[in-house]
Amino acid sequence: MGSGTKKIVRVLGCNPGISTGPGTNTYLLLGDAPLLIDTGAGVPAYEAALRASLSEQSVKGLQAVLVTHDHIDHVGGVEQIERIFPKARVWKMTHPASESLGGFEALQDWDKIMVNGYALQAIFTPGHAIDHLCFYLEGERVLFSGDLILGTGTTVIPVDGGDMTAYLASLRRLLEWDIRAIYPGHGPVIDRPREYILQYLRHREMREEQILALLKDGVRDVPTLVKRIYAEVPQADHGLAQQTVLSHLIKLEREGIVKKEEEVGISLFGLR
Ligand SMILES: [Zn+2]
Repeated sequence: MGSGTKKIVRVLGCNPGISTGPGTNTYLLLGDAPLLIDTGAGVPAYEAALRASLSEQSVKGLQAVLVTHDHIDHVGGVEQIERIFPKARVWKMTHPASESLGGFEALQDWDKIMVNGYALQAIFTPGHAIDHLCFYLEGERVLFSGDLILGTGTTVIPVDGGDMTAYLASLRRLLEWDIRAIYPGHGPVIDRPREYILQYLRHREMREEQILALLKDGVRDVPTLVKRIYAEVPQADHGLAQQTVLSHLIKLEREGIVKKEEEVGISLFGLR
């Protein structure tokens, strides 16, 4: 790789929406044969955006792709990339429970990918998704955080594949890394990583306290919890919030603090 060509360029996935914000961030790590982190959702317009970014930097090919996790807005563009750049190697954590079909080179926790003069360490960080990896770029001390940490707002912890206990452990694990900046899967770059992660942890503690206080007040179902906790959030986002609140309840149930009672198809919760 030529000197001075190390550079990270963001290419938006052209998939704006409720759960993606302005769209998924995909990141080009430039050099003679660039590397791409995440692929967006496979939106046709992304091809032109990616090509434009490459030609702006006078590079043509793409040598490798790293995928943070199995959600469609990150992995959905893999086929598109493989069609445009058939020689690119695609790496992703493979997990028995993740849905993506083969074609990936398997990554595990602590694996190191050396491509194009870059050294990236895979860090297994489940909680938002069961197969979630963050990538730590050595030298630059940059963390590509996928959906574990977002540039704005907080991450949804889905009941399917998500796990609040694991999520908090993943955040705490990242505190042990020397990170200069976080490049998230959605939203702007985070340049005070430690404070940001601590703030994320505090936010979850605060939510848990809110949930426990409402249960104490006799609120027992998830929709009402969400309505009370997320009063300031548009109704359209309440579906995602329900997932996160339910993930909090599952964690509390596991810890023996909350008990779940099924009543005619709707789950009700109460303090133990
Ligand atoms: Zn995701």
